[in-house]
Amino acid sequence: MKSHYDVVVIGGGIVGLTLACALAKSRLQIAVIEANELAEINKADDYDLRVSAISRASQQVFANLNAWQGMQLRRVSPYQKMHVWDATGDGEIDFEAADLGVDVLGHIIENKVIQLALIEQLKKLSNIDWLCPHSVNEIQYAENGSFIKLESGDELSCDLLVGADGANSRVREAAGIEIEKAAYHQKGVVCVVKSSKHHKETAWQRFLPTGPVAFLPLGDGRCSIVWSATDEEADRLVALDEENFCGELEQAFDYTLGRVESIGARAAFPLIRRHAQSYIKPGLALIGDAAHTIHPLAGQGANLGILDAASLAQVLVEADLRKQSISSVATLRKFERWRRGENTLMMYSMSGFKNLFSNEQPGLMMLRNFGLNLVNSVTPVKHKLVRHAMGLEGDLPEIAKSIGW
Ligand SMILES: Cc1cc2nc3c(=O)[nH]c(=O)nc-3n(C[C@H](O)[C@H](O)[C@H](O)COP(=O)(O)OP(=O)(O)OC[C@H]3O[C@@H](n4cnc5c(N)ncnc54)[C@H](O)[C@@H]3O)c2cc1C
Repeated sequence: MKSHYDVVVIGGGIVGLTLACALAKSRLQIAVIEANELAEINKADDYDLRVSAISRASQQVFANLNAWQGMQLRRVSPYQKMHVWDATGDGEIDFEAADLGVDVLGHIIENKVIQLALIEQLKKLSNIDWLCPHSVNEIQYAENGSFIKLESGDELSCDLLVGADGANSRVREAAGIEIEKAAYHQKGVVCVVKSSKHHKETAWQRFLPTGPVAFLPLGDGRCSIVWSATDEEADRLVALDEENFCGELEQAFDYTLGRVESIGARAAFPLIRRHAQSYIKPGLALIGDAAHTIHPLAGQGANLGILDAASLAQVLVEADLRKQSISSVATLRKFERWRRGENTLMMYSMSGFKNLFSNEQPGLMMLRNFGLNLVNSVTPVKHKLVRHAMGLEGDLPEIAKSIGW
């Protein structure tokens, strides 16, 4: 551990690790501080509860960081189709990889698998120190360089401090950056389930007035579910015994994949929309959940964070090559301008979807079913939507771009 770094990233989740790996080719000296050490997975281990639907753009970022192979070697679950429908009518929409001339729409991957593959790459890089397990005890933010004290008593300073420390970011708090916050008044109940019918490598989502229920396909034929429900309902669902939970789940999912035969451990995550009022300050940047959290209904939270990380890395590498300051507002502003618009658009689309589908006014219900079927039948609009979900639309950083899309 050095006493001074060009960049200190607090948080070695998916997003902080992506940033560090994307800075590998720069001359910058970087430290990543992460509190929790991850144990390597073994194929016999059960799937972790925290999984993410990873878009093609995020996959491309991982491939360019040489981490994709490490994920494939552990385990990733591809899906070729997506089927979304409304429980209150006949509205439905289908997306197929083949229609877009690609082999998969995306992959369901355990967050842990993504982290392990990125850590594997990061450990090979001579300009990056992986400080894990290390908890941060104190952060003193200052415009011309920040100071960090670890629980171990070690102290370090940096020119640029990056908060990749998740939704309750200490970095954000230390810099005095406010957040706009709106509770969805829902929790996402997650668990791994075995249904009597195979998922057919399709991501399924049924919109109920109380919230969407998604079945995401896993490689062993089971599904990882995210069942969004009001806070009280979610707590009740988690407390149900196994038999009653399976019964209620198969009903909520309209027996689309038959009976739910068995389930793993359950957990419920509060769903809150948060948006930092600023992503930057002199000598400081926020990325991923530290900057924004959104409803998981379109599976975009981690994908947005990965693009934040790739964009910030691009801005910093370019500034460094031109011998410009990496910590000045002039440099960091380029990152904020780039990502805030893209993230805001996605956040408001997700809130809009959530409100539209939880509304039980008969006129609106009819309209949304009509709208879903209309979009489903108009190929260019449908393709535009799915390309957005795959992360292929918008202003992508270089390492998220690929030939052949
Ligand atoms: C139910 C649910 C389903 C979801 N499904 C999807 C999906 O399908 N697709 C998708 O793209 N997104 C999904 N998301 C969102 C996604 O999980 C998050 O957006 C993503 O994990 C954020 O990554 P992050 O690295 O920014 O933050 P985190 O994953 O929160 O990582 C932060 C890291 O910082 C570390 N840390 C925090 N404080 C300190 C400290 N003081 N010192 C040292 N280390 C610290 C933590 O240990 C942690 O490792 C879902 C979210 C939920 C709740």
